[in-house]
Amino acid sequence: MDPKQKQQIEQYFEKNRNQLVEDVKRLVRIRSDRGDPAQDAPFGEAPKAALLEAVDLCRERGMQTENMDNYVLTADLGPEEPGLDILAHLDVVPVADNWTVCDPFEPVEKEGKLYGRGTADDKGPAVAALWAMACVKELGVPLKRRCRLILGTDEECGGGDIAHYYASNEEAPMTVSPDAEFPVINVEKGMYRSMVHVPLSGDSGIVSVEAGFKLNVVPDTAQAVLQGVDPKEIAPYIRMVARETDCTYAIGPMDDGKIRLICTGEGAHAASPETGNNALTALIAALANLPVQGEDHKRMQALNWLFPHGDYLGEALGVAQSDSISGELTLSLNMCKTVDGELQLQYDCRCPLCATEDNLVKAASAAAASVGLTIDETRIFPPHHVSADSDFIKTLLRCYEEWTGDEGKCLYIGGGTYVHMLKHGVAFGAAMPGVDNRMHGADEFARIDDLIAMGKIYAQTILELCC
Ligand SMILES: [Zn+2]
Repeated sequence: MDPKQKQQIEQYFEKNRNQLVEDVKRLVRIRSDRGDPAQDAPFGEAPKAALLEAVDLCRERGMQTENMDNYVLTADLGPEEPGLDILAHLDVVPVADNWTVCDPFEPVEKEGKLYGRGTADDKGPAVAALWAMACVKELGVPLKRRCRLILGTDEECGGGDIAHYYASNEEAPMTVSPDAEFPVINVEKGMYRSMVHVPLSGDSGIVSVEAGFKLNVVPDTAQAVLQGVDPKEIAPYIRMVARETDCTYAIGPMDDGKIRLICTGEGAHAASPETGNNALTALIAALANLPVQGEDHKRMQALNWLFPHGDYLGEALGVAQSDSISGELTLSLNMCKTVDGELQLQYDCRCPLCATEDNLVKAASAAAASVGLTIDETRIFPPHHVSADSDFIKTLLRCYEEWTGDEGKCLYIGGGTYVHMLKHGVAFGAAMPGVDNRMHGADEFARIDDLIAMGKIYAQTILELCC
């Protein structure tokens, strides 16, 4: 870019560094997790309060604002003609009482980091985007197309905010969202979730199997209740399986002569199941290896054959696949309930662009049928993909490279972001590669240098895409 313009952006952010951080603090001090809807507060009073504070912030920076029924706030710069939308959010996830650095709603700066709920997800990036627009305004470069900041209040709990916005507004020709990571995420895999049915007659001493609390979480614990089984007799079999699964197992007596078999592994997000150690598949492996007879036991072996412990790619189920743009399919069996004489198990699969109803949905059902089990035929929730060859994406990568000196490249992820349903939208920042901001966890933080860098990257992006 023009060296003079680059220097102006540089100076603008150095001059306003402290003010930008103070603005982030103003938003972080407003606890804005979702509450009960009330009159004029569709997601509760807390997200609405954050939205009203953001109206003030945007006006202070000279933006044209519109509050859309307390669902979203828009702040505009430039002419009417739509150009670039920036999509960020003001709601946060709830906090637990395990914060060690500060009160989550009383932000503090420490060693170059700003701590507090929402500093990284997504209030800090929202403010940095606003300051990027303010920078472009101060530079006085006329825009040919509009830059619009859209600040939502329901990203974490369902997306009712942007559904409301897009019900009466067209998607802009280009949209970026600083609600994930740099450089650019241009592919979000599809999602395929279904249920496996395993009849349970009680002829093998297996009374029930339970695991999981959320379909998108790999369970860290699972338990089975067994009847007429001698704990001493099964112990060596369990030990053998434990060596293979690397999970821990505990056998405990219950009041009525039954025993409880509890398996403990490690939890993970279903978008990256390989980072955990699935307690449910480890428990199934143990049940399949018990020295018992009966049809139920055979069905456990079939289940163990379809979902062997450690297979996060769907190989045994016959659905493993990958492509160069969107990577590998991942799959994890995350929930199990015992209902009306059957086990109902649910899995979460994140599938690449090459996945189809035939090579995924029908293939899984056929594999289950071949061992006498049933899988419901459910639909694939479509993936998201914006071509890396577009000028739009090339420009984003160039802006990123300009300010970081690092190579810009496109990434794919298993999860979904704010732009999943948009045709021409991608996640662009705001976390820098390799930085774990502890989003959704305790001691969430944003590095102040990274927020400033994001502001500069976005300022150049607006200049390049709207002029
Ligand atoms: Zn977020």
